[in-house]
Amino acid sequence: MGRTLDKSNAHFRKALTRLPLGVASNFRYWGEDRTIYVKRGRGGRIWDLDDNAYVDYRLGYGPAILGYADPRVDAAARQGMEVGGVFALSTEREYAVAARIAKMVPAAELVRFSNSGTEAVMAALRLARAYTGRSSYVLLEGGYHGLFDAALWTLGVDGWNPGSNTDPPVVPYSRGVPEITRQLLHVAPMNDANRLEDIFRAHAGEIAAMLMEPIQGNCCGITADPAYVKAVRELCDRYGVVLIIDEVKSGFRVARGGVQELMGVRADLCTFAKAMANGYQIAAIGGREDIMRQYGHGVAHGGTYTAHSVALAAAEKTLQIIDETPALETIAAYGRRLQAGMSEILNARGIVHSFAGHPSMGGLFFAETPPTNYRDWKSSDYTFYDTMARHLHDEGVLCEPDSREPWFICEAHDESCLADTLRGFEIAVDRTIAELS
Ligand code: PLP
Repeated sequence: MGRTLDKSNAHFRKALTRLPLGVASNFRYWGEDRTIYVKRGRGGRIWDLDDNAYVDYRLGYGPAILGYADPRVDAAARQGMEVGGVFALSTEREYAVAARIAKMVPAAELVRFSNSGTEAVMAALRLARAYTGRSSYVLLEGGYHGLFDAALWTLGVDGWNPGSNTDPPVVPYSRGVPEITRQLLHVAPMNDANRLEDIFRAHAGEIAAMLMEPIQGNCCGITADPAYVKAVRELCDRYGVVLIIDEVKSGFRVARGGVQELMGVRADLCTFAKAMANGYQIAAIGGREDIMRQYGHGVAHGGTYTAHSVALAAAEKTLQIIDETPALETIAAYGRRLQAGMSEILNARGIVHSFAGHPSMGGLFFAETPPTNYRDWKSSDYTFYDTMARHLHDEGVLCEPDSREPWFICEAHDESCLADTLRGFEIAVDRTIAELS
């Protein structure tokens, strides 16, 4: 175990005096002696303050799809900097990026920009409500849609008995979320169109939107059955509900046209962020013309930093690369080889496992088949995963410390990344077996 975190640990103690938990986002706190501070990222790797190198499969939770500090995108961003920032006026490039998104994702007939996935989903929900004149909405269980009150609800699976014939309770994901917001929300179980129709029927005329993430990028890549997603589409049409597909993680990653292309389904509204600018801060809402034109009819949307010239230029270049080069094929091929290599190591030790999601954002489960919904996710051996993740970090392979995040692949993950990963993986698996036996 050739890793020390002395400098990160010392910085943690200093940072704690000015930053809650010593970090800028709760998710970056990994404990007093395991919180990592990054010095730099290049390609598929990052280096921490102690100069430990890691092959990184978190990629900032997905954005660095081409790799960190991609020279093509960074050169474009520098040109964007020359434009001058934000002006409280529009620039020409907004059209070019919107047109590219519309070409890649046919559902995005018209496009508006935001600064983050959270903002884009908030905007989509508001548009759906304005369009329908209704207030309630349905969330598909297991999805994550950002840090705003309407989305910060989940199923309380801890302490819930799967054999009980009841649904897990709907609980706030955070303290500080007003209980009253719960009244507008319904949570639908994954892959059960009958249950969804029951909700739509019981609340006919009240539900504005169905918000779903068909490949759950925050729930280990658990994937909805495409037949279910098609059934959701039909039910939304029948009950006049706006279908919002949240492609913040899957967009421009699992296919040029995102999960909608993969599953042959067209959303009414869809949201993008992450991969669209290789880590520069921009998001987008795309959708049906008649819904998007609500912006001309009294629906609020904007933001001081919206379509910042740097992020916009980075988005233009990133999307051009994704659209016009085989980047996504390269990424998926690496993902398949990574999974095959992991399987070989696990099979040689008789360890039952499976993968979910897409090779470009795959979840690893220690169960014969991956869970098909969030409430069943305990069917996998999480103690094994979490222990293994800790040993992987020590061997220079960075995945999420618990199994919620899939393994994200970027175009810059190369042969040497693969070789280093599989070497570290083999050691981590053996250490995990030894530790848990
Ligand atoms: N929607 C999905 C599917 C996400 O994965 C995320 C973030 O992980 C969000 C929305 C929120 O995006 P952001 O963190 O940019 O606000």
